[in-house]
Amino acid sequence: MDYYGTHITKLIEELSRLPGVGGKTAQRLAFHIINLPEDMANQLAKSIVLAKRNTRYCEKCFTITDKELCPICASEKRNGTTIMVVEQSKDLAAYERTREFKGLYHVLQGAISPMIGVGPNDIKVRELLIRLQKEDIVEVILATSSTAEGEATATYHSMLIKPIGINVTRIANGVPVGGDLEYIDEITLLRALEGRIEL
Ligand code: ZN
Repeated sequence: MDYYGTHITKLIEELSRLPGVGGKTAQRLAFHIINLPEDMANQLAKSIVLAKRNTRYCEKCFTITDKELCPICASEKRNGTTIMVVEQSKDLAAYERTREFKGLYHVLQGAISPMIGVGPNDIKVRELLIRLQKEDIVEVILATSSTAEGEATATYHSMLIKPIGINVTRIANGVPVGGDLEYIDEITLLRALEGRIEL
């Protein structure tokens, strides 16, 4: 319904397409944006355009970034002998918030799910195996989620990587079944990481 005129209604419509944003929230956000000082509103619009335009995947770990290498892969302070395998960039962010993990990551960009037709070729498995050949890796930590898909993905990777002679570990069950890593608190993630078991 167009109560407010074309531009405001359009803004509310666009905001309501965002995940987790219903009609009422979209309206609240739109009013907030309208009431911002002009330069702050411009800055917000510009940030959206620039983030979208410059987004790419790290050439090494495949997380979302805006350079060839993400800040983690580019850092000399990280321990290059350990790779933590996660499903999504937001999982990487969740582990980074614990500030304890100092190794590198590999972002699969999904999980194996025969139910919806996602196989190993649809995620970054081959790219991980190439890294394991090129880099001097001692341990691969499988930190995929504890959903059926996450477990299947971990099992698949364990089968592939163990024969190469690299230690393969799985994060502990501290992460609730079906738990989305993004919403799990840092202490739980930390315990899951510290309690990881050898596969
Ligand atoms: Zn990277």
